[in-house]
Amino acid sequence: MSARDLPTMDSLELRHYWMPFTDNRRFKAKPRLIAAAKDMHFITVQGERVLDGLATLWCVNAGHSRPRIVETIRRQAGELDFASSFGLGHPLPFRLAERIAALAPPGMEHVFFTNSGSEAIDTAIKIAVAYHRLRGEGTRTRFVGRERSYHGVNLGGTSLGGVRANRRAYAGVLMPGVDHLRHTHEPEKRRFVRGCADQGAELADELEERIIPLHDASNIAAVVIDPVAASAGVLVPPAGYLARLRELCTRHGILLVFDEVITCWGRLGAPFAAQRFGVTPDLITFAKGVTSGAVPLGGVIVRNAIHEAFMASPAAGMEFFHGYTYSGHPLACAAAMAALDTYEEEGLFERAQRLERAFEEGVHSLRGLPQVEDCRNLGLIGAVELAPRPGAPGARGYEAFERCWERGVFVRPIGDTLAFCPPLIAEERHLDELFGTVAAVLKTAP
Ligand code: PLP
Repeated sequence: MSARDLPTMDSLELRHYWMPFTDNRRFKAKPRLIAAAKDMHFITVQGERVLDGLATLWCVNAGHSRPRIVETIRRQAGELDFASSFGLGHPLPFRLAERIAALAPPGMEHVFFTNSGSEAIDTAIKIAVAYHRLRGEGTRTRFVGRERSYHGVNLGGTSLGGVRANRRAYAGVLMPGVDHLRHTHEPEKRRFVRGCADQGAELADELEERIIPLHDASNIAAVVIDPVAASAGVLVPPAGYLARLRELCTRHGILLVFDEVITCWGRLGAPFAAQRFGVTPDLITFAKGVTSGAVPLGGVIVRNAIHEAFMASPAAGMEFFHGYTYSGHPLACAAAMAALDTYEEEGLFERAQRLERAFEEGVHSLRGLPQVEDCRNLGLIGAVELAPRPGAPGARGYEAFERCWERGVFVRPIGDTLAFCPPLIAEERHLDELFGTVAAVLKTAP
């Protein structure tokens, strides 16, 4: 698209659209509008190119407007626009589920589709509770989340999540029966860690030392963890932490759910974080990169034994009273098949592995710049944390984001942390531009 073809802002009325997770007043006073996107770049309505340093919202793993995905969606819309999966069916979700099962850890061969990560988390909560009930352990209804984890915005995910700002206004309506493990970020003990820290696996022991003695394991359904907590500031787990959680959950009959909405589809150089860490959970939630962001789609992958418990239910009729009108939507499934084709044909998961070293160097090249308190990374997820300005937490991060944008690079501010998560098609020159721009901004930051 040339700048000449771009939609203009002249006739655009901004006040009707209530934007999500946005400071609406600030944004509308100084809008940043994207008209088009291709590969690694956005094109703004003013015709400027901006490097996408966050796969837009941790989604666009194959890059923007990739031909196979675009063509497939076009074709699918003309062929079968919508078909319900409630007691009817069409071939696409079956094909896609088979494909996802082949990429998932062994023994996890069943997939339930949703439209988003938040819905995937709600679905996982219901599967866990219903599964225990089917096995005669109906007292297992409590959940364990973690501070500074993010599991989307439905009431289930908000309750399990540990982000104060997202919970504060809704305290009275959050799910009862949820405890939180402490987060794994210990800046007083370690900073500027490359990858996983050697120390800290014992933080998982809190499950057995505090939470289980308080409630009794017989009342706990599942522990829900994002393997790398991305949206709340990129917190990488210490080595051995997830394996320790697995061990404790198994010992106490508690299900382990990995919320992989960000960490799957090559982000950590493997289909799933489960494979990167060598730890197999009981359920995996996914979304975002499954279609490379092109059409909304999420889902839950479950261990065979869990699925079998539902299918072996002695009650006749429906096994699981749950589903979304658009579960298994044809456009979403087609887009996902095309995205998975693209990942495979272009070897993008392996490419992410190869790029990880250069990415890590880029993230840690910011160490020593003014106000930089920490740098963290794993796979192609990274962050730089800045010292908050006294009396104005978040201001420094937001200003740095704005100044990077003005210089043609998009990074995401999370308070005073800037997060990085480029599409897997990134080349080293893109990383140089990304981290070079951030460095230039930090060098001159007030
Ligand atoms: N879980 C995790 C780990 C996420 O990062 C997100 C979104 O960023 C979600 C769940 C929610 O996904 P969605 O925004 O698609 O509902």
